[in-house]
Amino acid sequence: MSNQAAIYPLSSGLGTLDDGCIFCLIIQGKIPSFKIAETELSVAFLDINPVSEGHTLVIPKHHAVTLHDLPDPYLADILPLAKKIAGSLAVKEFNIVQNNGKIAFQHVDHVHFHVVPKPSETEGLIIKIDENWPQKVVSKEELGVVAEKLRGRL
Ligand code: 5GP
Ligand code: ZN
Repeated sequence: MSNQAAIYPLSSGLGTLDDGCIFCLIIQGKIPSFKIAETELSVAFLDINPVSEGHTLVIPKHHAVTLHDLPDPYLADILPLAKKIAGSLAVKEFNIVQNNGKIAFQHVDHVHFHVVPKPSETEGLIIKIDENWPQKVVSKEELGVVAEKLRGRL
């Protein structure tokens, strides 16, 4: 059961925090983390179980489960911070991953962007194209129908 712990005005940089959420506790310093950088609206800290060295999480200082629960000012702040973190890595190549929902591999219900260094083909995020990226060949007509559906739902 979530517990809305504290509500701060947006101008202070802190939105609603939830003491039932591990990342909200990290934001408040109630549990420790290896913080790398922060802004008024976001904070970046090392992932406790890194996929590769330097794997960092960038999160909003507001409890929101998925991207659509998060007010745009937070989103607008996060990507420049993620870019800055990526620029501080020892390697040039990296992936940014952001999961929404259980079957989409989200385990912590507080929006987070993974910045995962890709030092080599065998380290970092590994996507076996045949197994993990099941691309399909579809017709232009099918693409057109899908595009129309999406536009209609915007
Ligand atoms: P997800 O699977 O939800 O996209 O990613 C959640 C990430 O949070 C995982 O990579 C996991 O290692 C990380 N994580 C979970 N609990 C903690 C924690 O207490 N501290 C830190 N620093 N990372 C955590
Ligand atoms: Zn939270």
